[in-house]
Amino acid sequence: MATSRKKTFDSINPVSGEVLASFPVDSKDTVSLVVETAHEALYQWQHLGFKGRKKVLLDWSKYLTSHVDEIAELISDETGKPISDAKLEAALAINHIGWAARNAEYVMSPEHRSPGAIMANMSARVEHSPVGVVGVIGPWNYPIFTPLGSITYALAAGNAVVFKPSELTPAVGVWLADSFAQVAPSEDIFQVITGFGDTGRYLCESEINKLAFTGSTKTAKLVAATCAANMIPVVLECGGKDPVIIAEDANINAAVENTLWSAMSNAGQTCIGAERVYVDEKIADRFIELFVAEAEKITAGAPGAGNYGPATMPEQLDVIAAHIADALKRGGKALLGGKKSVQPPYVQPVVLVDVPEDAIAMTEETFGPVIIINRFHSIDHAIRLANASKYGLGASVWSKRQGKKIASQLHCGMVAINSTISFAAIPSVPFGGVKDSGSGRIHGPEGILEFTYPRTVVRARFQLPLAITSFNRSYFSDKLIMRAIKILKGRLS
Ligand code: NDP
Repeated sequence: MATSRKKTFDSINPVSGEVLASFPVDSKDTVSLVVETAHEALYQWQHLGFKGRKKVLLDWSKYLTSHVDEIAELISDETGKPISDAKLEAALAINHIGWAARNAEYVMSPEHRSPGAIMANMSARVEHSPVGVVGVIGPWNYPIFTPLGSITYALAAGNAVVFKPSELTPAVGVWLADSFAQVAPSEDIFQVITGFGDTGRYLCESEINKLAFTGSTKTAKLVAATCAANMIPVVLECGGKDPVIIAEDANINAAVENTLWSAMSNAGQTCIGAERVYVDEKIADRFIELFVAEAEKITAGAPGAGNYGPATMPEQLDVIAAHIADALKRGGKALLGGKKSVQPPYVQPVVLVDVPEDAIAMTEETFGPVIIINRFHSIDHAIRLANASKYGLGASVWSKRQGKKIASQLHCGMVAINSTISFAAIPSVPFGGVKDSGSGRIHGPEGILEFTYPRTVVRARFQLPLAITSFNRSYFSDKLIMRAIKILKGRLS
């Protein structure tokens, strides 16, 4: 689409500081124009039907699979993460495309509902229609996996998409839209706009029909407020402070290995990464000793040199340093690393224990390779501590016998038992949080339906002699209805 784009900004490699490319700072007018063309493309996309869209989406997943090295390199360049992590991220995202493509028709098929005794002459059904144009705003930490969780499901449901990637990862966003254009009947079905927060705001103010946001809770509140002005519904996927509960009967080795990876991989920049560990005091010493020994083996460094990369967003280094300093000032102990672990652009692994529950590192998202391990004296105590957070995104439970019982008492959107963050890799289950972690769901049937609206259609199969929606309703009809309510004890349906 030809538009006059003047201002630009640079995408920068956080490891080398090298400028990777420049992108337009899209204005309000440009965003409006892009959204307009997305509306125009809708007819073509919806006209393809489920089978046609499935073919395009599966072709796209094939294209991404055959270009996985290219996209992984771009992700690594913009975020600083190791190439193997970038490939894993891309592979998981591709898996979601296939699932959404194959299941959209079934999930959106009309449902028949019982009309009830008094409306027995009616047939009743609920249809699911795509909302129209979906605006997607994404973060930088998983620049392909995270936005595709909304984009893929919205497209599969028959919507057009306009995506605003983070200013830190615009190249990945543009690459995604370009790759879709290789297989789609029109490039306007999935378009990308670039720029800073203002460009995201313009998208919220535009003629979109729904907004899917992934990012911090602070920005989510701004986005929701902006969308509310135009009654635009929102899906909000926000931050977390995910707890891990290690029960006395846990497989300690597996719990250590997985929790360490959950906390430190991607430099701790994972919304569903472990940030708080609660371990049964009876096994705490053994767990902590093993955890520290394993954590000592990993280091931050450039792709190819470290187990994980730098803090992609330089400003986050101050947040991480402040959390560590506050935890130590309040009596927490550093068993590995500490304030000196923050070595821009990297943060070496930090393991803290016995940190008071009201320290900032326990209440706010740290988003760095810092893990806090505290002890609990009973399962009820552990559940209380886990639920005390204002966030409610994901959680992990390690227990051979009590996993399900503990999981069902956690106030959060997703729980993994004897594994970590695995729910994100299962396309058939919904992904999302409660409380400050957001609302609405991506992934799974719920993730498809999130980008549709239900339309109720009822049809009179024959006319009843008992006319109830008529001014000709008789005294006899009213009496009959009242008698039926009494006989059926209020159950007319
Ligand atoms: P931000 O909230 O800073 O930004 C998210 C997106 O919103 C970016 O594209 C940003 O643009 C844009 N934006 C900023 N201001 C506005 C505005 N006023 N109106 C509209 N859009 C705006 O989050 P980060 O990018 O820093 O991502 C990290 C956060 O994302 C963490 O809190 C993490 O937990 C969360 N996250 C949640 C996930 C989930 O599924 N629940 C998954 C992954 C991350 P720009 O970058 O150009 O400023």
